[in-house]
Amino acid sequence: MIGSAVLGVFKENATPRDAFAAVEKASISGNYSEVARSRASVIGRKELSTAYQPQADDAGELIVPERDLNNANLYPEITSDDLPYGEDKPGVMELEIDALDQLDQEENITTITKQVPPEPTDETFKLAKGETLIDALTDRGVSSAAAKALTDAVNPIFPATMIKEGTEFELTLDRQIDFYGREVIFPVELSFRPGPNETLTVEADEDGRFQAAIAGAKAGAKSQYAEFNHFRTRAKVGSSLYGAAKDNRVPDYIIAEFTRIFAYDVDFQRQVKANDTFDIFYGNPLTGSSSKRKVLHYAQLTIDGRTKTYYRFTSADGQTDYFDEDGRSAQKSLLKTPVSGARLTSGFGMRRHPLLGYSKMHAGIDFGVPHGTPIRAAGSGVVQVAGRHGAYGIAVEIKHNNKYETLYAHMSKLAAGVRRGARVNQGQIIGYVGSTGRSTGPHLHYEVHVDGRPVNPSRIKAAGGKQLAGKDLAKFKQLKARVLTMMQQAPSALQVAQAQP
Ligand SMILES: [Zn+2]
Repeated sequence: MIGSAVLGVFKENATPRDAFAAVEKASISGNYSEVARSRASVIGRKELSTAYQPQADDAGELIVPERDLNNANLYPEITSDDLPYGEDKPGVMELEIDALDQLDQEENITTITKQVPPEPTDETFKLAKGETLIDALTDRGVSSAAAKALTDAVNPIFPATMIKEGTEFELTLDRQIDFYGREVIFPVELSFRPGPNETLTVEADEDGRFQAAIAGAKAGAKSQYAEFNHFRTRAKVGSSLYGAAKDNRVPDYIIAEFTRIFAYDVDFQRQVKANDTFDIFYGNPLTGSSSKRKVLHYAQLTIDGRTKTYYRFTSADGQTDYFDEDGRSAQKSLLKTPVSGARLTSGFGMRRHPLLGYSKMHAGIDFGVPHGTPIRAAGSGVVQVAGRHGAYGIAVEIKHNNKYETLYAHMSKLAAGVRRGARVNQGQIIGYVGSTGRSTGPHLHYEVHVDGRPVNPSRIKAAGGKQLAGKDLAKFKQLKARVLTMMQQAPSALQVAQAQP
C-alpha cells in the first residue's frame, strides 16, 4: 500500500523527465542560456544570474563557471512558499507518516521496501537439439532484440549456424529494474568454444553494444574453425537489384537464379522500384548434394508492399524447384489451350504436310477454331515477334523466361498494343485466329520452345504449376522452418568480408 502511494507520487511528478528532455534538446542546439532558462523554469523560481550560466567555449565544450560561495545573489532565491512542504502545508513525508500511522492500526501490515536490482547471475547451459543461440537466450529471459544483436556480433567471427548441438555456454546476465518496475535481463557476457583450441567471448560495452573476440587473438579475427557456408542479404533495390545485390557480395549466379525465379511474376525492368526490397538466403545445399557450390535457398521480393517468397525444395521425384509459402511452384504452367472451344486438329511430330505433300516435322500443334476466335497468351512474358513472319503468316512469339517461349501463327490480326517488346500477361488476348501464311484454313498453330527447341505442348505439364501435396508438402514445411531458423542468424557476405581474416 505504501509502495503504491509512493509510486503514485512519482507518476504524477513528471516534471523531472520533461526537464531532462528540455535540457537535452537545448544542448543539441547549443543554446545554453535556453538550458539555464528551462532549468530555472523547472525549479519554477527566479533565473540564475547570467554570470553563472554555463557557456560554450570555441570547441563547443560546456564551461560552468566556478561559483563564488560568498555571493548570495548568484543562487536562485527560494522561499518557504516555493517548497511543497512547510509549517502550514503537509509534505510528502508527513503524508507518508500519516499513512503509516493509519496502517499501524490495521492488521496484516506488510512493509514494502524498494526493490534492489539483483546481482548479475552466471549460468552454464548446453545448446539443445534443434535449438539456436537466439532461442537459448530468449528462453533465459533475454529480449529477442538483444539476442539477435549478440548473435550478429558472433557471426562474422564464427557463424552461429555452425554452433553444434551440445556446445556449452557460460552466460552472465545482468538484471535491472526498469522505470516501470519490470525486471530487464541483459546478457553482459557470453563465452563458448568454437573448437578445441579456442574460446570465443562476447561482451557488452557500456552502451550495450556487443563485441566478440577469440581469446588471445586480435579483435575481430575469425575463428580458425569458421566456415562461412550460408549468407543472408536484405536490402532495398535502389537503382538496380543487380547493383544492390552485388554491393552486398551476392554472387552473380545467385542473382541470376533469383531473377529467373521471379521471371513469371515480375518484369524486373519496369515493375521493380528503388524502394522495393529483396531478401536472399543462399549457401551450401541443405540435403542430398555434397557439392560445395552454393544455391539459393530463399528468395523474397516485396514490390509496392506486396511480398512474394519462394523456397528451394527437391521433391520425392528428385526434381528441384522453387515453391511459394503454400507449396506452389514458382514456374507458372502455360495455358493448355490458348484458344477456347478448340479441337486439336494436328498433333506434334512428323507428318505429311497437306500443302507440300512430303513428310515434315510439325513443330507445334494445330487447333481448329473459327476465324476471329481470340488467342490468349499461354503465359506472361515479353513479345519477341508480332506481325508477318514468313510461312507463319501473322504471328506472335512470347518469351516467358530464359527457358520457355511460345509461338502463335496464322492469325488474322494482332490485338491492340501487341508489338515487339510489349509485356503481356497470361490469358491476355494477343490476336485473332485466321489463315495467313502457309495455311489451308482458319486454325491456330501453337508452338512451345524449351531452351530454343520446339517441344510437344501437350507434354509440358510437368514444367510448371506444380502443387506439392502429401509427404512432399510435409517435408517442404519442415524445410521452410529450417531455412527460416538458419536465416535468422546467418551473416551477410559483406559482414563476413569486412571482418578481419
Ligand atoms: Zn501447325
